[in-house]
Amino acid sequence: MKTTVQYDDIREFEFKPGTTLSSYLQLTRDDVKSYFLSGSSLVDCSCPACLSHERSEAFSKFGLNYQECSNCQTLYVSPRPDENAIDEYYRKSKAREFWNQHLLTETEAKRREKLFKPRVQWIIETVEEYFPSAQRFSSINSVHPPFLQELVESDYFKKIRIVTPRADLSHVNCEKDGVQVVNDAIGAFSNPTDAVTLFEVIDRLSDVNAFAGALDKMLVPGGLCFLTTISISGFDLQVLWDKSNSIFPPDRMNVLSTEGLMLLFERHGFECIELSTPGLLDVQIVANAYKENASIEIPRFVRYLMEQRDNDTLQTFQEFLQMNRLSSFARAVFQKK
Ligand SMILES: [Zn+2]
Repeated sequence: MKTTVQYDDIREFEFKPGTTLSSYLQLTRDDVKSYFLSGSSLVDCSCPACLSHERSEAFSKFGLNYQECSNCQTLYVSPRPDENAIDEYYRKSKAREFWNQHLLTETEAKRREKLFKPRVQWIIETVEEYFPSAQRFSSINSVHPPFLQELVESDYFKKIRIVTPRADLSHVNCEKDGVQVVNDAIGAFSNPTDAVTLFEVIDRLSDVNAFAGALDKMLVPGGLCFLTTISISGFDLQVLWDKSNSIFPPDRMNVLSTEGLMLLFERHGFECIELSTPGLLDVQIVANAYKENASIEIPRFVRYLMEQRDNDTLQTFQEFLQMNRLSSFARAVFQKK
C-alpha cells in the first residue's frame, strides 16, 4: 500500500480564518437550526465506519451531538438527519449559497491550479497503473466545480457521469460528448462504472453504509474509488477536538479514523491500494489556535512545542505526521476485488 506526501490540502480556509470563514460558520449554525433542529426528525445511528454501537458522548456542535466510537474511534453525529434533508440543505441553504458565491469563486482559479490539476493527474496516473482499460468515470456529489471542469477538460475518460443532487454546477461547462450530468438522489447508481471519485463526500452522508453498498454494486471488478476526507486520526483534530473549526455539521458529520475508513471499505469488498495523509496544515492550525487563545486546553507537550521550538522543528513534526498517516487530511484509493 502506498503512502504519499506531496499535496496541498483542502483546509486552507481553516488555516486562514477570517471574516469569510466566520460568516460561513455562522450561517451554517443558523441553517442547521432551521433545517435539522426545528421539526424534522433525527434518527439514532451506529458508527458509520465499523457499525459498532459502543460509543461515548464527545461534544455538541450547532445543537447536534457528536459520538466517539469505542471500537474504531470514529467521530460521528447521532442522532442525525436523513439523506433527503441533507440533500435539500445543500441545494437551498443560505450557508451553501454563501459558500458558492464567496469561498468557492474568490479562490477558484488558484484552487484549480494548485489543488485540482494535481488531483486529476493523480487519478490518471493511478488508473494507468491499476486499471488501464478504464473508460467510464463517475463523480458523485462533488462540491468542487473546478475539479469537475478540470476533469472534463483533461479528455482522459471517454464517458464521464456527474452525479450531483447537491452541487451548483452553474459555472461548469459540461457541454461535451460523453459527459452526462445526473441530478439523481444518492444511491440511485444504475450504470456500471470503472472509476469513481468521492471528494469530501463520505463526510456529509447520512447513511454511509448504504452508500458504500451502492458503490460496491456500481463499480466493476477491478474498479477504482478515489476519495479525500478529513480524519479524526489527525493531529489538529485530536488536539483541538471540540474547538476545531474543521468539525461541524452537516459538512463534517462523519469524521472517520483511518482505521474506520479501512474497515468500511474492506467490509464492502474493496482492497486499499493507497492511504495517505498528505495534509500540510495540522501543526500551523494548532499554532494559530494557540496564538489566538493561549488559555485553550491543549496537551502539555504540544504547548511546549509551540512555545519553545522553532519553525524547523514544527515543519519536521508535520512531515512526521504525514509519513505516519497522522495528518487530518486523508486521501485514499480502494480497488474493488
Ligand atoms: Zn467505529
